[in-house]
Amino acid sequence: MSKTVNVNQRRYRWPDVPVVVVCVDGCEFDYLTAAVAAGVAPFIGSMLEDGSRFIADSVVPTFTNPNNLSIVTGVPPAVHGICGNYFFDPASAEEVMMNDPKYLRADTLLAAFADAGAKVAVVTAKDKLRKLLGHKLKGICYSSEKSDQVSMAENGIDDVLGMVGLPVPSVYSAGLSEFVFASGVKLMQRHRPDLMYLSTTDYVQHKAAPGTPDANAFYQMMDGYLRQLDEMGAVIALTADHGMNAKHGKDGAPNVIYLQDVLDQWFVAGATRVVLPITDPYVVHHGALGSYATIHLPADLDVQELIARLSALAGVEVVLDRAAAAARFELPPDRIGDIVIVSQRDTVLGTAAARHDLSGLDVPLRSHGGLSEQQVPLILNRRVEGVASARRLRNFDAFDLALNHAVALLAKSAA
Ligand SMILES: [Zn+2]
Repeated sequence: MSKTVNVNQRRYRWPDVPVVVVCVDGCEFDYLTAAVAAGVAPFIGSMLEDGSRFIADSVVPTFTNPNNLSIVTGVPPAVHGICGNYFFDPASAEEVMMNDPKYLRADTLLAAFADAGAKVAVVTAKDKLRKLLGHKLKGICYSSEKSDQVSMAENGIDDVLGMVGLPVPSVYSAGLSEFVFASGVKLMQRHRPDLMYLSTTDYVQHKAAPGTPDANAFYQMMDGYLRQLDEMGAVIALTADHGMNAKHGKDGAPNVIYLQDVLDQWFVAGATRVVLPITDPYVVHHGALGSYATIHLPADLDVQELIARLSALAGVEVVLDRAAAAARFELPPDRIGDIVIVSQRDTVLGTAAARHDLSGLDVPLRSHGGLSEQQVPLILNRRVEGVASARRLRNFDAFDLALNHAVALLAKSAA
């Protein structure tokens, strides 16, 4: 019997060739098919044609941190605890970033494989994810953003810039993600990790719709690096943390429900607290506007009555109380407030209009967070077997598919 590793009640087979899981931030399936149709992403085209292609469900809220942590733990936020980029911590009565590993309630399969003797490497675009992804990991883990500040002690590697041969990219650029892929190829050449996790940023996807020149250029860039990983014999599983949709009207102005303003009109100002878990230190490209919010209420407020009232607002898709939201979206009930509200595909939720700086939105708003961004690609450069056709695949099944189900090598068209 071959060696296996158990993590969070799931069993993974030991890889006999390197396994690379790629999380392409904000990757609607249409980005892939449009780039392939335009002829700029032939390798991705071969994955879609000769490998495996699924549409998987990501985690709601369709934000970066909850989904990246689900992918590397193999379980939903109810188990790993990371249910936003940002939340109201009842313990400290403060709104805080959810970047600290102290909020993580489950082990990652990356750390578990490393403990079992595997060589593991992780590269993420933004540094905000690095500590969570690298929690307890004995291996290589760094971000593009802070690639000039790595050390053996902290990151398991030094001189990343010398290895990659690219300068430190701007945090608001396609280059931040290119650095991730370029790192992946160099790491594969030099270290040949058994497991590698690459996670990009959605700067391009927030600005450019599928099939547009900027989007196609991004996928063309990605295609070249993926091909190199494939040529080195890696099994590649590509998925996304969430999709991306236009959130504006015909005039280009964003469709926003400013929830805190609405609630402050209905109740005493400040009685309720709207929290936007999309919030992170880098909000220029989306103004902290997404399609998901949580609301904390005073004890004397009638939750069901408020749910009915919020549900009647134009642009609202679903409003759930804490228990219903925790059950439906598999979220940790102690971290989601009293109400979870999701807006429709073309609408975003804000706090108070005065608290959002939209001056950085130089193109009409595209964003995510809701049910409308839940479907994401899950594709491999190999065929898979033993995946039941009725199975609801999640993006956090990427490692399961790559390690436990991937089979035959692709025929090499370029061989
Ligand atoms: Zn985003």
